[in-house]
Amino acid sequence: MIVPRKKLTFWERLFLPAFWAGFKVTWRHFVNTLFRRRNAAVVTAGGYYPEVPWTVKEGYRGAPYLVKDQEGRTKCVSCQLCEFVCPPKAIKITPPGPEVDPTTGNVEKRPKEFEINMLRCIFCGFCQEVCPEEAIFLMKDYSLNGQSREEMIYNMEKLLALGGVHQDPIMKWKKKALEAQKQEVFNPERKE
Ligand code: SF4
Ligand code: SF4
Repeated sequence: MIVPRKKLTFWERLFLPAFWAGFKVTWRHFVNTLFRRRNAAVVTAGGYYPEVPWTVKEGYRGAPYLVKDQEGRTKCVSCQLCEFVCPPKAIKITPPGPEVDPTTGNVEKRPKEFEINMLRCIFCGFCQEVCPEEAIFLMKDYSLNGQSREEMIYNMEKLLALGGVHQDPIMKWKKKALEAQKQEVFNPERKE
């Protein structure tokens, strides 16, 4: 279907009416700021932003960050479920290679790189809901900014620093340590 482009009228081509309409808004804010001592910042439901930051309500879903457990270990196990479920494809995970991580002695328990493109993220919370390790949480940050598009792609280091430490109710490392202990005392010869 071809939609015919409407021809501009003489007045529209002058652009003066549009210019005047915009100027009136600017002038009104100028007068308000100068004489009525009103803050020129945008008035939001919570007050004057950005001079007075918005008080984030309980349960607000902001930017997603990665968290560490109480012992400072990355909880993410690189299962890539969040990457799969993310509607705008904002998450990019590079799984670890076959080499052993010297800090954990494991090859599969931690992503090699984990990036979230905050320009794409819509703060939907699907990644948090799907994560089996409770390794990713939506925090209350709503005002993210940067000087370039690259700066808005948060890498794993940045995501972990912003996410901070959470207690680990899953206690996977504790369970694994107990399993390892059991294996140490397991003696098949004695059983037979
Ligand atoms: S909050 Fe939603 S859009 Fe943002 S990274 Fe998680 S799944 Fe993707
Ligand atoms: S954050 Fe959670 S869902 Fe995403 S890869 Fe890590 S463990 Fe899997």
